[in-house]
Amino acid sequence: MLDLTLTFDNGPEPEVTPLVLDILARHGLKTTFFVVGEKLEEPARLDLARRAYADGHRIGNHTFTHTIPLGQMEDSAAAVEELRRTDALVARTGETRKLFRPFGGGGKLGPHLMSPSVVDFLHDRGYSCVLWNAIPRDWADPEGWVETALQQIAAQDHTLIVLHDLPTGAMDRLEEFLDRAEAAGVTFREDYPEECVPMLAGKDVVPLDPFVAAVA
Ligand SMILES: [Zn+2]
Repeated sequence: MLDLTLTFDNGPEPEVTPLVLDILARHGLKTTFFVVGEKLEEPARLDLARRAYADGHRIGNHTFTHTIPLGQMEDSAAAVEELRRTDALVARTGETRKLFRPFGGGGKLGPHLMSPSVVDFLHDRGYSCVLWNAIPRDWADPEGWVETALQQIAAQDHTLIVLHDLPTGAMDRLEEFLDRAEAAGVTFREDYPEECVPMLAGKDVVPLDPFVAAVA
């Protein structure tokens, strides 16, 4: 079985997110938008996140500024602020599920993703940490990402893919991607593969050491 869970990071973007929402609605698909908190300070973008939530999608926390992976920030209080401020803005969309996707810096997994104080915050708020197992690099390859993604999907049972609702041009191929995935027999799911969720509802499912920096 080839299963696929879609996620969209780094938005919302007025030029792109409405198009993505329209395409997902046409295909009857529900997904998660991991939003950048500071973008929601702009009312039009907050409205877009609210529309996504109203359409039945999940809204997740993808840090406030999306500038430095949280495990690499020297100021541990500032790293927690990245989460806390975004948490408050995501709540304004109506979303109550607590979903966090770390900023990997090009999609890399490793101890740069979180710090101990960040993990404490996630535990306290009952967050699930949602990683990924497919990065077709749509932002860097807005033409070729579809073929990369289809290959990644074919190579594993349940793919959790990271796409970006950013104005790179990549989402011009989203509809074609979905059509080709459907033609290949892919089953779309809203839930995440277990191996991509090391923390579930504030509880560690596996040791988090591979994803947490060894600083205070
Ligand atoms: Zn990101």
